[in-house]
Order: sequence, then structure tokens, then C-alpha cells
Amino acid sequence: MSKKHYGKCALCGKIGTLSFEHIPPECAGNDSLIKAYSFKDLLCDEKDRLPWETEGLHYEQSQNGHGKYSLCEKCNSLTGHLYGKEYQKFDLFALRVVSENKDPNKYCAELKKAYPNRFIKQVLSLFCSIEPEYSAYDELRSFVLDKHAKGLDKDKFRLTMFFVRNEILMYSGNSNLISCDKSKDTIVNQLVAYPLGFLLYLNPSNQKNYEGTDITLFADYDYDHEDDIVFPIDIREVNTGFPLDFRTKDELLKAINTEKVKEPS
Ligand SMILES: [Zn+2]
Repeated sequence: MSKKHYGKCALCGKIGTLSFEHIPPECAGNDSLIKAYSFKDLLCDEKDRLPWETEGLHYEQSQNGHGKYSLCEKCNSLTGHLYGKEYQKFDLFALRVVSENKDPNKYCAELKKAYPNRFIKQVLSLFCSIEPEYSAYDELRSFVLDKHAKGLDKDKFRLTMFFVRNEILMYSGNSNLISCDKSKDTIVNQLVAYPLGFLLYLNPSNQKNYEGTDITLFADYDYDHEDDIVFPIDIREVNTGFPLDFRTKDELLKAINTEKVKEPS
């Protein structure tokens, strides 16, 4: 008999049996064997290894994709039913963008017949599953649970998106402060699930610059509003567990070698 998981649902907050939420959704190809490494192990390993070298590190294995026991059965099937397919559509679109982007003069790609409201709700649901206890997400939980809900407080939340070139799944939850003035801290949470990446900024009005394409306005669409959407071709590489680190492997190797030269012998 499989083990039961009890806890608080990351969306409705009810305590009970939790079901497995795929992060990203199962229909986006997240349904096969994965090995998960902790950021701490990758960072604190004593061996002189590069950030993408995982041989010999402890890992957790899952046979049917990556995810967490984070949602009650009702919320899991509701989000899957209402929003999952739309995420799959964006995922396939992003795959095309990263694999066919050979023309350096092409700056935009168009996704036809998209449902922006469904997509943003699926993405925000994933962030809630990653940080089920995070009270700053309470507004997002209500927004996700109501299929007709529209609009997000733009002073509190900004969601941006980018395309990801390398095959990686990584998230960093809560509290990466990127302001010098503590009263104006902006927090950024990052979710990278090849070929898509997202940054969720909290208190974004304190931040002048941000990475990625702003898709917060997707929240303003009706659930059934279909549209053609043009995205800038913004393709990043993610090779470390640090949020906002988009250095290529070559750039990282160069930085590491420069540091080694500086080290006293
Ligand atoms: Zn629930």
C-alpha cells in the first residue's frame, strides 16, 4: 500500500491527505524518471566540482516526474482540469522557440490561440506548491482557485517569463533580497522548468529593473478570452541554483578560473 501524505493544501489550506502535484505539470513532459539534487548539496560539496557536475552526489529519485505532495485531491484535479492543458500549449511553443531559433534577425515569436488567464493561473499554482506556507502568496491562492478571478495587484506582484536553452528543472523559493534599502526589499522567486522559466517578484514597484518578459497582465484576461500573443525571443541559460544567474557554462568557467588565479598559492 502506498504511503499517505498528510498536511495543508497549498491552495485551499485544508488539512488532509495530499496528492502529488507535478512541477511542472505532467502533461508538459514531466512524467518520467528524474533525479533531484538539493541546492545545499550542490553548493556545499567539498570537492572541487562545477555547478552542473552531479556525479557522486546524493539524490532523490522519482519514477513519474518531479513534484511535491502539496495539493488536496480537489485542488489538484481543479488546476489540472482548468489550467494544465494551457501550460502544455506554452511548453510546446517554448520548445519550438528554443529549438528553431537559428535566425539571429528574428526577435519575436507568436503563439496563436492562447488563453493567458489559464496559463498564468497554472504558473502561480506551481509557485504556491513550492512555498505552501508562504503567507505573501495568499492572494495568489484565491486568484488561482477562482477560475473567473481577474487582475493582480501590480504593486505586490510581477510575473515575468523567459525561454530556457538547457535542460534543467530548478526552483528557488522565497527571499532573495535584491535591494540595499531594507524597507524597500524586493523578493524574487525563480522557477525554471526547461524550456520555460519564470520570475515572481514581490513588491516589484520598489524595483526599477527586472529580468524577463512581463506577463502579469495575463491576469487581466477573462478565463475564456483567447488571443494571439507575441513574445520577444529571450532565451537564457541556467547552470547554477542561484536565482537571476543566467551565465553560460563558458562564462562560469571563465569566472571560476579567474577566481582560482586570484587565490594565494
Ligand atoms: Zn485544496
